[in-house]
Formats: sequence, structure tokens, C-alpha cells
Amino acid sequence: MRAITVHPQDAGSGSGSLEIRDVPDPVPGPGELLVDGLAVGVCGTDKEIVAGEYGWAPAGQERLVLGHESLGRVREAPSGSGFRAGDLVVGVVRRPDPVPCGACARGEFDMCRNGRYTERGIKERAGYGSELWTVESDYAVKLDPALERVGMLLEPTTVVAKAWEQIERIGGRAWFAPQRVLVTGAGPIGLLAALLGVQRGLDVHVLDRVTTGPKPDLVRSLGATYHCEDIDQVTSRVAPDVVIEATGAGHLVFDAISGTATYGIVCLTGVSPRGRQLSVDAGTINRELVLENDAVVGSVNANLRHYRQAAEALAKAAPDWPARMISRRVPLERAAEAFTARDEDIKVVITLNDTLSDARNGED
Ligand SMILES: [Zn+2]
Ligand SMILES: [Zn+2]
Repeated sequence: MRAITVHPQDAGSGSGSLEIRDVPDPVPGPGELLVDGLAVGVCGTDKEIVAGEYGWAPAGQERLVLGHESLGRVREAPSGSGFRAGDLVVGVVRRPDPVPCGACARGEFDMCRNGRYTERGIKERAGYGSELWTVESDYAVKLDPALERVGMLLEPTTVVAKAWEQIERIGGRAWFAPQRVLVTGAGPIGLLAALLGVQRGLDVHVLDRVTTGPKPDLVRSLGATYHCEDIDQVTSRVAPDVVIEATGAGHLVFDAISGTATYGIVCLTGVSPRGRQLSVDAGTINRELVLENDAVVGSVNANLRHYRQAAEALAKAAPDWPARMISRRVPLERAAEAFTARDEDIKVVITLNDTLSDARNGED
């Protein structure tokens, strides 16, 4: 079978080490599903891995199979696994560390304390970017069959399902009745965070720089408000109870922190490069946090509970909405094109099975 492979932490000759290679078909172990890969989504982490800046191959191997935003169809399932041939499935990304730490021991591997967790397609485990893959049945999540074209959006949805859970738990430390939410950044994470905010009945505002392309319409068709002015202007008008920051841009992070309503919660989901310097008024930020009982929390990854929440949220979305987030579908043999950004990209997807590749979007 063919797989999308990289030599992690090797920048190669400019274009990185990405190669579609023939590799042996995987053989399911006891309790594992054998799955036909349908598609993988591409995100910033994949781009960093392809650029040679991140990622680790499995022990004893040189190359890593890429892909953690998975979607597949079960070919073989062990009896009693709860899965059947034909089921639409997504594989969970992270596995608990082997110690395990207290969090991993309780199924909260997204909160791993010792950093020795492994991740499919990222850290020491083959990813899902191959024509066939296997997954332990207790790390597979069944999807509504209607999500066949968009199920690779489940993994990024799990990230925002967790973020919302964190916000609600932190809000629950006292009386909490949020009304207005600001999401900074209308990439896949920002848009999905907005979707889950709307599903909670909140007044959702999304801030991004672009004024053209599909983002403004995607936001408006949720019933949310799209902004492209300065964040200060937006926060002073909206006074958000909750901010979900999805850009990792330093000035947005700090402006969000000082722009919330009283008892505001800012959830940071964007990872920024190190070494960005910014001058901030630490006194004002500290005053605001203390005098308003504000909270700032970082959130990454997701556990099985968040996968189930995300599967429900995606299934509840208006049928055409998630599909409009997918700006390009690139067939496996041309996977390299998925890692070169184009202006109007939101989510780029690599199709692993020809019957799913979209000729209109896949061809130039
Ligand atoms: Zn990702
Ligand atoms: Zn752990």
C-alpha cells in the first residue's frame, strides 16, 4: 500500500523529506480494526513536520507515516468490538504514556504530565496517512455515515470540544452565564470553535484579517458576526465573556486577556513560534486579571470524551457547512501540493481513496 512518509527533523533539500512510499500492508493485532483510509486533513503541525521542524519516527525506524486528522472505513473488525465492516471511523491521535502518569492512568492522556505520551502521525507512532491502517478498537470513534465527506474534520473538532469543556469547567467555579464569545482567527480551529459556540446558544463573534474568500460567509451562515477591525475595537464593543484565541499571535493573546468582560475566560489554543518579543503593560494585565476574577487557560489535544462530544457536534452541524471549510482535496499521489499554502485555503485534505477525491477541487 502507499503511505505519506517523512524523515522527521530533516529539512531535506528545501522541499523537505516528504515521499509517497510503498510500505507493507498493516496487519491488525488482537482487538484492532483494519481500516481503508479515506482521507487525512492537513494542519500546521503536519506542515511543521514536513518542513523538518517537528515529529519523531517510531523507535528503530527512520520514517514516520504522516497524518493525524483521520477518516476511514472499517474493512475488518473483531467480533465484540462494537464495530462492523463499512463503519465510518476516526482514530484517536494520542496514546497514554507507558508509566503511566496519574492523568494518563485515568484516561486523561490529553493532560499527560510527563510528556512521554505518543501520537499517531506525530510522535513515535505511524499516522493515518496511508491507504490502509489499523487502530485499537477502543481508540476508534464511529461517525455518523452522513459525515463521509467531512469526517476528517473530527480531530480538529475534538480540540475545540476540549477547549469548550475547559471553559465551562473553569466558569463553573462560580455563577456563570456567558452570553458573548469572541473567537480570534477564522482558520479551521476558530471556525469550529464558533460552530460549537453557536450550538451552545451563544452570541458568537469571529475576528480575522481577511475580508474576501469563504471565511466571512462561513461565519455569517452560522449566525455569528464576522469582524476584521482591530481587536481593541471589537472587545470594547462586544465585551466578550469568553475568548477562544486560535491564532497564537502575541498581540491578540494579550489584547484578548485585557479585553474580556468581568469574570472573563480566555482559552488559548494557538501555538506560536518561540522568540517573538512584545512589550506589554504587565501592571495593567495583572490588575485586570485580579480585579475581574479573570482566567486564562491553555488547551491542547483531546481525550476520548472529547472525540464523542465532537462527533455529536459535527453530526448536528448544518449538512453543507463543514464541507465548505474544505478548500482543496488533493489526491494521494499529489500529496506534496497539500503542504504549499494557497491564499484561500482553510482546510486542505489529502484523499487516500480515489472514489473520494474531488475532481473539481483536486485538479488545477
Ligand atoms: Zn492537526
Ligand atoms: Zn501521561
